[in-house]
Amino acid sequence: MPDIPFERANFDLTAALEDAEHRFAEANPTSAGLYEQACRAMPGGNTRTVLYYQPFPVSLARGDGCYVEDADGHRYADFVVEQTAGIFGHSEPAIQRAISSALAQGITLGGPTPREGRLAEIMCERFPSLDMVRFTNSGTEANLMALSAARAVTGRTGILAFEGSYHGSVLSFGGYGNQLNLPLDWVMGRYNDMEGTRELIEANKDSLAAIIIEPMTGSGGCIPATPAFLQMLRDAADEHGIILQFDEVMTSRLGPGGLQKAHGITPDMTSFGKYLGGGLTFGAFGGKEAVMSHFDPRKPGHFGHAGTFNNNVLTMQAAIAGLTEVFTEKAAEEINAQGDLLRSRLNNAAETRSLPVQVTGYGSMMMFHPTGTALTGPTDTDAAPKEARALFHLEMMARAHYVSRRGMIVLSLPMGSKEFDGLTAAFEDILDTYGALF
Ligand SMILES: *Cc1c(COP(=O)(O)O)cnc(C)c1O
Repeated sequence: MPDIPFERANFDLTAALEDAEHRFAEANPTSAGLYEQACRAMPGGNTRTVLYYQPFPVSLARGDGCYVEDADGHRYADFVVEQTAGIFGHSEPAIQRAISSALAQGITLGGPTPREGRLAEIMCERFPSLDMVRFTNSGTEANLMALSAARAVTGRTGILAFEGSYHGSVLSFGGYGNQLNLPLDWVMGRYNDMEGTRELIEANKDSLAAIIIEPMTGSGGCIPATPAFLQMLRDAADEHGIILQFDEVMTSRLGPGGLQKAHGITPDMTSFGKYLGGGLTFGAFGGKEAVMSHFDPRKPGHFGHAGTFNNNVLTMQAAIAGLTEVFTEKAAEEINAQGDLLRSRLNNAAETRSLPVQVTGYGSMMMFHPTGTALTGPTDTDAAPKEARALFHLEMMARAHYVSRRGMIVLSLPMGSKEFDGLTAAFEDILDTYGALF
């Protein structure tokens, strides 16, 4: 247990956070040095914005199962799960075998191999919207390809997206600011706002090529879209010839066939990424044959789609093993049932203490929000003070639980009751220690 100076820590949120940061810095001298070193050649010592937090991020030395260890030797139960991409944990034998066997047969071969066709088939069986699929190197790229295809197929330019959503590095409508977003013809709606969004679609029906939505916002707060909202988008898209695209880069892990199958609402196009590569670089987009067949290089006037590593053998082999040997449909059911249970335990802990905190989510993805206000879309999460999120994060780490700074808590397949009990206990202890500040 960390040594918490009660009088001061309970004084106010700012003092409690300062104190937590001080203890964190004291406990992590090696990470502090490595961070300073990284700052010499990378802006802010960082090559991935989400990984920065104050006073500096711990440098990770290794991982095994669902645990990670930092450079100062602290061991954490890993609930960051690489922003959902780490569903297999850090040392799943089936993934390791797949990578080794592909490695032994040679990398960067420069031609098609049997692997990508097999993986495409497995994905098309799994996800209802997929007649056909193509691979990319990231979720960002998958979204760019799918949206560009929608524009080319419809001959329109507009794209309806939702405030606060995240669809990739240059497709970011949330907390990071949008200075670097691609200058596409964006129309911005409010998540879960039925009337407003319906009107927005009506007003732009002749110019909209696509609607892009995460059926539950991932980094945008783990706030599910209501099935009624998604159905309204489906109906409006059908009525006006707009391509409905689900970004299931994260949410495709929330059931055997993603959230689209769980809700029984089938988009025209879907983008994928994260965990599907077995823990390696991955992206994919696919959907209706009417759209995807434009990519057939045998056809005159076909679309081009490049990507040196689109079919890289390590990712393809790891992805096949991941879906067929580990993250089976049954495993998908189980991990999401475990997530629902964990989320209700955490919410019960808050309710019992009558504290204005909540954990939103669906299945194996959830987020801590230090606010009692009902959250219906990603922009609502601003209601929670940033300092309270930061305090929660550092205090979870002080209790040997690695969660992301924004308070996202994600399950991985190696986890069991030991980890769920441990997380719940750490959560309850933080509520008991700092509850009055939330
Ligand atoms: C992570 C993510 C992306 C981007 O994927 P990258 O592989 O990081 O480029 C896109 N959409 C959503 C919903 C994501 O969570």
